[in-house]
Amino acid sequence: MPFNFCPRCGHELVLREKDDRRLRPTCPQCGFTHYANPALAVGVLLTDDRNRFCLVLRGEEPRKGYWGLPAGFMEGDESAEAGAVRECLEETGLEVALDGLHAVYSYQHANRHTSGLLILYRAHVIGGSPRAGTDTTDVKFFAADEITVEMLAFETHRQAIQEIFACSE
Ligand SMILES: [Zn+2]
Repeated sequence: MPFNFCPRCGHELVLREKDDRRLRPTCPQCGFTHYANPALAVGVLLTDDRNRFCLVLRGEEPRKGYWGLPAGFMEGDESAEAGAVRECLEETGLEVALDGLHAVYSYQHANRHTSGLLILYRAHVIGGSPRAGTDTTDVKFFAADEITVEMLAFETHRQAIQEIFACSE
């Protein structure tokens, strides 16, 4: 169970079956129900004029020391597109323009009871210069044959990269 106590009144939560037959942490005192909705992550497949892909080296856990696509969690007061552009700027120092939706990926961490969606947009650089950001320690553009599945931090990123390579072969 992700939460033990009610965030509204502080009472201990109990597992109750709701109308949809799923067991959900529920507050017997005030009626609050915790719905474990997926987290929303947004990111970019950023390519340069030589068709190389931008990756960032992660400086924070999880997956510190592995490379990832510029991506992060959406804030509650922004659109998915704005979030993707913002995350890219924060992690790479590059201002980008989006070129449309690439794909949407689902992920699940069974052991942590969490799940999410990664929404990836295609993008190109319109300004700024590459520099490591708040939770990244390097920014680099890689040719397709320089990227290996093993160096990538997340399954969703591996999936995206593999699909692109499969298409271009
Ligand atoms: Zn409560």
